[in-house]
Amino acid sequence: MSNYNWCHNPSCHTIETQSRVRGTGDNKVLRTVKIALSSHYIRNSIYAYFCNQNCLHSFLNKFRQEVANIRPVKQPSETPIKVVKTKEQSHRYQYSNGESNRVPYTSTRTSISLKNSQE
Ligand SMILES: [Zn+2]
Repeated sequence: MSNYNWCHNPSCHTIETQSRVRGTGDNKVLRTVKIALSSHYIRNSIYAYFCNQNCLHSFLNKFRQEVANIRPVKQPSETPIKVVKTKEQSHRYQYSNGESNRVPYTSTRTSISLKNSQE
């Protein structure tokens, strides 16, 4: 495995930044960014292939149809859940005439839990 990738955005080399300039004298060019796979984070992320978000999104926009065809979604997916409402005793403060009074009230907490863990 090499320790670098070239940015996969086909237009990376057309973006005008000092960091892309290579060459000397009259032979200067803008070059595709070389991505050092120097950290675990980069090697295991999309940024192993794209030098930044701009290049990632340019690629996704240009190849959106191909990207969508990698794993077509023809219908929605569903995750079975259980919605649990629990009542809890709590307090709030009621202000009147410059004084605050602690007043009990019942709050309802709604939580969602997965019925069975999938993926
Ligand atoms: Zn790039």
